[in-house]
Amino acid sequence: MIVRSVFLGPPGAGKGTQAQLLAEHYDVRQISTGDILRRHVREGSELGRRAEPLMRLGQLVPDDLVVAMIADDLAGSFVLDGFPRTVGQAEALDAMLDAGGRPLDVVVLFEAERATLVERLTGRWSNPRTGRTYHATFAPPRTPGIDDDDGGPLVQRPDDRLEVVIDRLETYERETLPLVDHYGRRGVVRRVDALAPVAEVTAKLVGLLGLAHGVNA
Ligand code: ADP
Ligand code: AMP
Repeated sequence: MIVRSVFLGPPGAGKGTQAQLLAEHYDVRQISTGDILRRHVREGSELGRRAEPLMRLGQLVPDDLVVAMIADDLAGSFVLDGFPRTVGQAEALDAMLDAGGRPLDVVVLFEAERATLVERLTGRWSNPRTGRTYHATFAPPRTPGIDDDDGGPLVQRPDDRLEVVIDRLETYERETLPLVDHYGRRGVVRRVDALAPVAEVTAKLVGLLGLAHGVNA
């Protein structure tokens, strides 16, 4: 069964953590616009050069650039993680999916309060090669600074510094929160308590996305 989903919610809510876990264990792809953009920045592409100054300030990359990044990648089952982030992006996504005759099945809204988000983001460490994330306190790697899977170095994202985190949370409230109404009108929004432990959130998502019989489970 195909499921087309969006993970919506503030930075630090756990969208990437969950999307990656689901993609590992079930037949569903994670499409993370943040990961794709960071790859462009690392590789120094034209897109990376345009995106980097905005990302560093916690601002959004222009809609046309991010929409173009995902436009050819919407086949099969997917979790869009970090996209759409504006009403313009949501409208572009609607148009692309409607053209293929298959709208979104579910938009999961990750709910968490600000203090927790700040704590999670400022303690986040990630593997830039795979996108896997850890947390200094809540989900530490076996050896500090080293990825459990590939033994490579973990990094702290430049935009996870406190000043930028505050700006990113404001950007979320201003630009992205209106999507709750946008999708709410269609009746596809399901809420999860993002403060719950990782495994509890995963179990809830497996149910919401109907992944219980996933081929890799
Ligand atoms: P997002 O993709 O929504 O920005 P992440 O998945 O990167 O958020 O999670 C942010 C940080 O919080 C990471 O360091 C991650 O390890 C940690 N984290 C994610 N989910 C939980 C959870 N349920 N409980 C505690 N820490 C979590
Ligand atoms: P994330 O990894 O989702 O926290 O995203 C990191 C940064 O990448 C954001 O703060 C934005 O600058 C940029 N970004 C990621 N996804 C989008 C998007 N859908 N639209 C615009 N900018 C994005």
